[in-house]
Amino acid sequence: MGFDLVIRGATVVTPGHREAADIGIAGGRIAQLGGTMTGAEELAAGGLLAMPGGVDAHTHLVHQGLSDRLGFPVWVDDFWSGSRAAIAGGITTIGNMTYPVPDDEGREETPSAAITREMAGAAPEAAVDWFLHPILLHPAALAEGEVGALAERGHGSIKMFLSDPDLAADETTLLAAASAAKAAGSVTLLHCEDGAMLRQAGEKLIAEGRGAVVNFPDARPVAAEVAAVDQAIGIARRTGVRVYIVHLSSAAALDRCRRARAAGLPVYVETRPLYLHLTRERFAEPDAAKYAGAPPLREPSDREALWAGLAAGEVDTVCSDHAPWTLEAKLDPALNAVTARQGVADLETLMPMLYSEGVAAGRISLDQFVALTSANAARIFGLHPRKGTIAAGSDADIALWDPGHRRTIDGARMQSLSGYSVYDGWQVQGWPRFVVRRGQLVLADGQITARPGDGEWLRSGI
Ligand SMILES: [Zn+2]
Repeated sequence: MGFDLVIRGATVVTPGHREAADIGIAGGRIAQLGGTMTGAEELAAGGLLAMPGGVDAHTHLVHQGLSDRLGFPVWVDDFWSGSRAAIAGGITTIGNMTYPVPDDEGREETPSAAITREMAGAAPEAAVDWFLHPILLHPAALAEGEVGALAERGHGSIKMFLSDPDLAADETTLLAAASAAKAAGSVTLLHCEDGAMLRQAGEKLIAEGRGAVVNFPDARPVAAEVAAVDQAIGIARRTGVRVYIVHLSSAAALDRCRRARAAGLPVYVETRPLYLHLTRERFAEPDAAKYAGAPPLREPSDREALWAGLAAGEVDTVCSDHAPWTLEAKLDPALNAVTARQGVADLETLMPMLYSEGVAAGRISLDQFVALTSANAARIFGLHPRKGTIAAGSDADIALWDPGHRRTIDGARMQSLSGYSVYDGWQVQGWPRFVVRRGQLVLADGQITARPGDGEWLRSGI
């Protein structure tokens, strides 16, 4: 049978399965695995691993024009530069955080209005497939039915911040939002740092004259993360909603989640690359501010606990939390331990760094790598089996990985407009050579061949 594209000679890897098989692609989907086939185009992939394209469920891209309208600094990648960064690192699907912003009259948008705006902004820019997480900044102010209406439109998740002390103290509102998510079948994403404890720790540092950015980790202690994780677990217990803890950073918080999961509670755990590769001694460096992210970098024992958690299946996803700033914006001397700009660019480095430090270094298996970078996120957000696997009928999203490729990380030459990487100078082994998204070659021998607007919005969670 003749296909649009045949990938020849790769080793196909999905969780629990590995085989040398040709891949036949037709109409953007995988039509046949193994057996005799011919294609209008053929791609020689001998020696490469064929893995599902990454599903990075946690990014912060900002569509063009929005930052000018807002008048305050925002992250520097739009959906096009962010898509290029994703593709260059093997990712073919992203989940972006959609913030309500002030509308033309200065009033905060509803989450539905924010989603409408972001759908329109992302569509002409995105080259990866994408779904959106509506952020509920002030859920008490929303009309009843907002969460259900979002779910009906295909947005099957909500995100809230327990780092907001007023929201964290308003259990009635939190439980109402979580119950609405439960009723709609949506996932509740929670930023877990206790807002009251953060405020207290920050005020103490400033009062003691220790407000410099070098003390950023002390402004956001592990105890604050643990307290908020306990609150998140309580929300899962009391409402039955599926809770997804974003960017978990510490051994103590992971321990709480492990026990909750053992008790049968629907608690998912995400971590991000920062906590797997870097620890707080980075804050002794002169440009400490470039490492700021919330929660902050932790101790070596936390890093080891997270790696053990990946290997044990206690962490579901590794997502980038791609929140890119220029180095100049990060190092702004006016910022302190409380106001430091949070987040780093990590879309392009997420999979290669995890492969190098995880699979090549023997900390996790190739199966676990695939589960952590695509299959689990696809399942949690209702995209499986369209995404997150290589199987007949699934979208042909494939990262063809060269496991022997060696490269030195250099953010100045990468796709994100941030222009640097916190991993600059790291030597890594393993990088995608080709990336296929819905049957279209979007990375060819390291060159981006995608076009803006080629990405599709994905109905999630239903
Ligand atoms: Zn984030």
